[in-house]
Amino acid sequence: MSLPSPSQVEPQLERGADRPRIAHHLNADTRDRLLAQVARAHQPHDRMPLRAPFSDEHLAEIPICVATDVEAVAGRARDAQQSWSRRSFTDRAEILLRFHDRLLAKQEEILDIVQLETGKARKDAFEEVLDTAMVSRHYAYHGGEHLRPMRRRGAFPLITTAWEHHHPIGLVGIIAPWNYPLSLAITDAVPALLAGNAVLLKPAEQTPLTALWAVDLLRQCGLPSDIFQVLTGYGRTLGEPLIATTDFVAFTGSTATGRIVARQAAEQLKGCSLELGGKNPMIVEAAADLDAVTDGVMRGAFANAGQLCMAIERLYVQQPVYHDLMARLVDRIRKLRLGPSFELDTDVGSLVSQAQLDKVERHVADARAKGAEVLVGGRSRPDLGPYFYEPTLLTGVTNDMAIAREETFGPVVSVYSFETTDEAVELANDSDYGLSASVWTRNPQRGLEIGTRIAAGTVNVNEAYAAAYASTDAPMGGFKASGLGRRHGRAGILKYTEAQTVAVQRWLPLGTPKGMSEERFVGLMTRALRTLRWVPGLR
Ligand code: ADP
Repeated sequence: MSLPSPSQVEPQLERGADRPRIAHHLNADTRDRLLAQVARAHQPHDRMPLRAPFSDEHLAEIPICVATDVEAVAGRARDAQQSWSRRSFTDRAEILLRFHDRLLAKQEEILDIVQLETGKARKDAFEEVLDTAMVSRHYAYHGGEHLRPMRRRGAFPLITTAWEHHHPIGLVGIIAPWNYPLSLAITDAVPALLAGNAVLLKPAEQTPLTALWAVDLLRQCGLPSDIFQVLTGYGRTLGEPLIATTDFVAFTGSTATGRIVARQAAEQLKGCSLELGGKNPMIVEAAADLDAVTDGVMRGAFANAGQLCMAIERLYVQQPVYHDLMARLVDRIRKLRLGPSFELDTDVGSLVSQAQLDKVERHVADARAKGAEVLVGGRSRPDLGPYFYEPTLLTGVTNDMAIAREETFGPVVSVYSFETTDEAVELANDSDYGLSASVWTRNPQRGLEIGTRIAAGTVNVNEAYAAAYASTDAPMGGFKASGLGRRHGRAGILKYTEAQTVAVQRWLPLGTPKGMSEERFVGLMTRALRTLRWVPGLR
């Protein structure tokens, strides 16, 4: 198969509905009911406009909360947390399971709202429902296993008994991004709540209604209202008071803002977890199933129009199949359905904002100016909506181009070829980031081995990004500039607790017993340590 030249690849992307209908689930009553739940002190608030990326239509005027709001609602949350933490885990889990069921039952409502606020395709919005349900189910059934007191090996067998306890840390702050406004606001809150904490959530400026809807649903499922509150407004003014007022902050967003959060948390000696940017590689070995790889690239690179921290932005293809795969990808990309639609009939939605579109255009223009070639895509589509951008493949990308090293966060993939897998692993690891990676190979066992050599917090073999992410029993997070701490798994719930060891000493003290000389004690302990080194079961 020969590669089509760029002029042949003029896209024939289908348009979705002419203009989006106004989702009936966000009528003025629903909107105003949700906005009435914004957590605030009593002063009147300035407001900021919220607009729909599909059409730039005005959706709402959102209250701008300030530091005094944070302080006021934190007091209420801390009071409520006292009795919440005394309830049994099963009691709390029942509320989360009810939430799971109602979320699935009422998904049409939230899919509309997520799409209205972000402009994403409906299938991408559905991934958020899926993720939120899976995380709720996982921690409701398994969170208790991590939280219950655990017997630990004592300092000395028989005479010391040690127990590990996990107490709720108290009040958790969550700062959430706009790209997965349901998932990333709620799935971090789920383990925090189940561990007995109260939560203050600061959703992104672009996506307050999604957060308010989800918290409202949790309240309908029995969550006490002060336990989980939403503060709308600007991150740059709310971030600092939120960190100062809470006991731990879970942040998801850009690496630049993550560094600010980390600095402020450090200053206050508060813990934080940070899930940040990525420049995620995909490695394709020549023996891989190219049909499956083609599907994998469509999902990995263009899900959520590439606005996904785990999105594939670098594609490394083994030389012998490079041209074959390029031809397949170009063909598939030309068939992608792009457009604003509230049905499951499009593949790629809009970018979220002018700022996002500007960044994508800047990266592609810079790459082109320095010699990169666009194989397909490479332009915005104002005919579809203000922020649409075509899925794009770039070749000839070199390290002096911004797109080679910086996160683009759009539907653009740079493609490279390689000779040996060792070389590909080295190229994949040559990045400041290390969030997610994908490896395609004939032999899954080999994939597992290659995976451990890649410096990324999650690696997917023969899958783009979801296999590792959706395995919620296992940790997820970033190496290097992609973050600190983990969500999911044991780490994802224990980070919201204070670990405590309670140890009991019996019969003999750990210091010199009364009446024994120091020399004798030293001799005795030395012999005891030598014995412990060798006796199975006591080591
Ligand atoms: P983006 O630049 O794509 O909006 P950010 O990382 O800035 O990504 O945004 C993620 C979240 O961080 C949003 O909720 C935003 O309001 C919040 N945020 C922005 N600036 C700050 C800050 N200085 N401190 C804390 N949170 C912030």
